[in-house]
Amino acid sequence: MRRPLIVGNWKMNSDKAGAAALASAIAKGFATAGRADAAVCPPFVYLPLVADAIAGSAIALGAQNMCAEPSGAFTGEVSGPMLVDLGCRYVILGHSERRQLFGESDAVVNRKLIAALKTSLTPIVCVGELLAQREANQTTDVIQSQIAGSLAGLTADEVRRIVVAYEPVWAIGTGKVATPEQAEAVHLDLRRMLATRYNDQLAAETRLLYGGSVKADNARSLLACPNVDGALVGGACLKAEEFLAIIAAAN
Ligand code: PEP
Repeated sequence: MRRPLIVGNWKMNSDKAGAAALASAIAKGFATAGRADAAVCPPFVYLPLVADAIAGSAIALGAQNMCAEPSGAFTGEVSGPMLVDLGCRYVILGHSERRQLFGESDAVVNRKLIAALKTSLTPIVCVGELLAQREANQTTDVIQSQIAGSLAGLTADEVRRIVVAYEPVWAIGTGKVATPEQAEAVHLDLRRMLATRYNDQLAAETRLLYGGSVKADNARSLLACPNVDGALVGGACLKAEEFLAIIAAAN
């Protein structure tokens, strides 16, 4: 019922030639890799050349962030309509690096989410707890509050269009991956939260991705969890063969 989705978050990596080569290699390999949906999210400046490199393949294009405003005097920002104009299908919102390093609160994520939903973009909304919060048994409360704040005021029809990524902050870029049991438990919680806030059908249909040190060699066990519908991949998506192996594991 829920198609697997594997998303590569390139973060602020690569250069022009490297971005084109990586995107081309992924697009070329994807034809034989399988049936899961897949997307690459390069830095803003490389979106056009990556769009060209993946043209004609089933790999979708995504961005790592966007402005909550559609246009105007917002120096240095990039809007949702601009991303659509460049061929983006997805936008990552509320990544923990945005929250921690750039001060994005749930309220900011909510404004961006509302703006993204006014376009054709599919937002990928990230939530996740810090290590100290997990150790203090606060994971469910933290996720619940991030969901409540990020999705505030949204209708079921709007939430039906989003993807949620559970990314425990302690697992991002650390090589310390959540166990399949830990990921599955939070994903089950997320489904319960969506069912309570909206309805059972929406909760059952929403794609929930896991992110945090996913690699080719741990992807299969994480993706085998009944409530893990895909992965948001950082470091491992910068090597085409590694990213393609994760996509293959999703089949
Ligand atoms: C991420 O940045 O979303 C991420 C999951 O990174 P990594 O896979 O490197 O932990």
